Amino acid sequence: MAKRAWVMVPGPIEFEVEVLQALGAPTASHVDPDFVDVFGEALALMRTVWRAPEGQPFVLAGSGTLAMEAVGANLIEPGDGVLVLSTGVFGDRFEDLFSRYGARVTVVRSEIGYGVDWEKVEQELSTGDYRLVTATHVDTSTAVRVDPRRLGDVARRHDVLAVLDGVCSVAGERIDQDEWGLDAVFTASQKAIGVPPGLALFVVSPRALNRFLSRRTKVPNYYCDWAQWLPIMQAYQQGKAAYFATPAVNHIKALRIALRRIQDEGLDARFERHRRLGEACRSALTALGLAIVPENEGEAANTLSAAWYPHGADAGTFLAAVREAGVVLAGGLHPKIAPKYFRVGHMGATGPGELLATIGAIERGLCACGVGFEPGVGLRAAQRVYWS
Ligand code: PMP
Repeated sequence: MAKRAWVMVPGPIEFEVEVLQALGAPTASHVDPDFVDVFGEALALMRTVWRAPEGQPFVLAGSGTLAMEAVGANLIEPGDGVLVLSTGVFGDRFEDLFSRYGARVTVVRSEIGYGVDWEKVEQELSTGDYRLVTATHVDTSTAVRVDPRRLGDVARRHDVLAVLDGVCSVAGERIDQDEWGLDAVFTASQKAIGVPPGLALFVVSPRALNRFLSRRTKVPNYYCDWAQWLPIMQAYQQGKAAYFATPAVNHIKALRIALRRIQDEGLDARFERHRRLGEACRSALTALGLAIVPENEGEAANTLSAAWYPHGADAGTFLAAVREAGVVLAGGLHPKIAPKYFRVGHMGATGPGELLATIGAIERGLCACGVGFEPGVGLRAAQRVYWS
């Protein structure tokens, strides 16, 4: 049997067999009545998973960055003020993206490992002229988690749109889009949703759609324009086919299956499983003597963990030894600290079995780097916490 390693990076993740089978099934026409049902159900399930009964879901062929692009293209007009709360690489990405649509962008940038300074945000929104504020729920480059409730709250009080990058959080960390007043929440299929890379997914509030509908200028992006996609999504929701650009038929079939699995597990149970996985992973890493990149436990993500290498450990040697032990981990992503830390994804269908295999492989990697620790100490910590 070919040697296969578990992909425990923070996206793409390991996918369930039924989801993969849908990708490999014969491709239906996008106007086939069966596919119309599939697409309609997937859109309805997105509202459930985002907890946005009032929201408008969109499914576009592309990655998470396309979802960012769609938000920028449709909600921004030249001269609009945008406040970006950046806790890592993906917040920083929004600065460049929004500027290309003519926004005046201000960034409240956190130090690496820290969450948002809400006092600064409050001050900025009170004094500046803003149309939109955005935060990254979980920045995959730092594993720092931001509280989306505060984002929604501050945005409501200052009458600006709240946009949440949920690429590394939707279906893994708790989100109540409607209740928390979030105007756009987007993700990509390859993360906690559990479908191979290929779909940009987002749900937009009625308030954001109204702002979009009252634009003074044309959306300067042909493919992303919601005026093109809104009638398509509405048609499939009503059990009718419509065409603007060919939908990713097999990916949408796979999405329906993945969303059904999420619904069957139950959202609360799913968030709780992720919480336990996150806590167990961080406990194991700490027991092995590693420091966690997020400085405050309350701001550490549950969908991935990031840890600093111990003194003297070489990234290449560590990752190769972990791979040899059957697990693929991710190196550092934030350019300022990239060689100094690594990342472990534990989202989607991941359970305690995969986590324990991963901790075992990390122990092998540390041994290969000559780091001293009591063998099994990480595994014991993970088990204690997961099943406590
Ligand atoms: N935002 C976050 C938080 C991400 O983790 C990622 C991808 N790692 C993106 C945006 C961009 O998504 P994609 O790579 O699918 O374009």
